[in-house]
Amino acid sequence: MPRPIQAFIHLDALRHNLARARAAAPDAKVWAIVKANAYGHGIERVFEGLRGADGFALLDLGEAERVRALGWRGPILLLEGVFDPRDLELCSRLGLWHVVHEARQIDWLAMHKTHAPHRVFLKMNSGMNRLGFRPEAYRAAWARLDALPQVEEITLITHFSDADGPRGIASQLALFNATTRDLPGERSVANSAATLRHIRDAGLRSDWVRPGIAVYGSAPDFPEHDAAHWGLRPTMTLRSHLIGLQQLQAGDTVGYGSAFTADRAMRIGVVACGYADGYMRLAPTGTPVLVDGVRTRLVGRVSMDMLTVDLEPVHQAGLAPDLGSEVTLWGQAGNGAMLGIDEVARAAGTVGYELMCALAPRVPVEVRD
Ligand SMILES: *Cc1c(COP(=O)(O)O)cnc(C)c1O
Repeated sequence: MPRPIQAFIHLDALRHNLARARAAAPDAKVWAIVKANAYGHGIERVFEGLRGADGFALLDLGEAERVRALGWRGPILLLEGVFDPRDLELCSRLGLWHVVHEARQIDWLAMHKTHAPHRVFLKMNSGMNRLGFRPEAYRAAWARLDALPQVEEITLITHFSDADGPRGIASQLALFNATTRDLPGERSVANSAATLRHIRDAGLRSDWVRPGIAVYGSAPDFPEHDAAHWGLRPTMTLRSHLIGLQQLQAGDTVGYGSAFTADRAMRIGVVACGYADGYMRLAPTGTPVLVDGVRTRLVGRVSMDMLTVDLEPVHQAGLAPDLGSEVTLWGQAGNGAMLGIDEVARAAGTVGYELMCALAPRVPVEVRD
């Protein structure tokens, strides 16, 4: 028998969340963001759930080839554009649309030989200060692209740094709108947080929205709002079983570094899940876990292949947890109880994105419809 850890990918939840994103921005076309191997879910695994999107956006050329290999003939967008002039040949061959965020990428396009002109997304740095042309250089970049026979159509794109928080998007949006005011072409400005929180803001026009994390069932602005608030369902569940039990006395410690000390007699369970499965080693005592669908807490330090949980709340719920009992690290328990990935992530000082992306290759994954 394989080690009893298992992840589940929920296709119905992916479809549901994609529909939520569409409902939030009914006039926009929707990119399904499948970078980082579909936020750790696996591109091939999520494809059936996301094929209702208008296009797939990602940033690795190998991932673009995988989406085409699945039979997708619609738009595919490279969110960081090309990394090398030879990448443009693959763009021509596979019909990939690509972001242009840097003058060098325009130089490469100008030298590229193609019969099929490209659709490009010209990126403005409106304040995030990662990729893109600054406002004062943006219009010149647009004019250069517009003059190239290699370019068919230019979409205007920017990315907000604070769509999920109190700073909001107003100043970045104002700068983007002022700079692009009279430029033709479609616009794409909204990630998950902007799609859910700001799509109706005055002046926001996004012909294409780019909801990533929301489609994977995580709230972009947790803990201000949780996934249920936005009507999102978890798309990934991580479950395992109890493979050991220990009866502790007051003063006994648990695991490496004796990081947890029992203050009274208590029963703990040993779970087949550790940081080599993608669970966070920095998750502290108190991080929520479900045992037989009952909420309890992690105790002691997470090790490579195991972690330990307090069984007292499970006993108090009238259950008798035993070897083989089901443990849900995040997602949906067998009895239907939910443990939000955002809540688990927050206990360890991180975000749901990182947990999804960290799911280790050694964890077997089952796709459920
Ligand atoms: C990843 C990414 C997104 C999606 O962001 P979420 O916060 O997951 O919605 C949108 N736009 C760009 C450019 C991205 O790189």
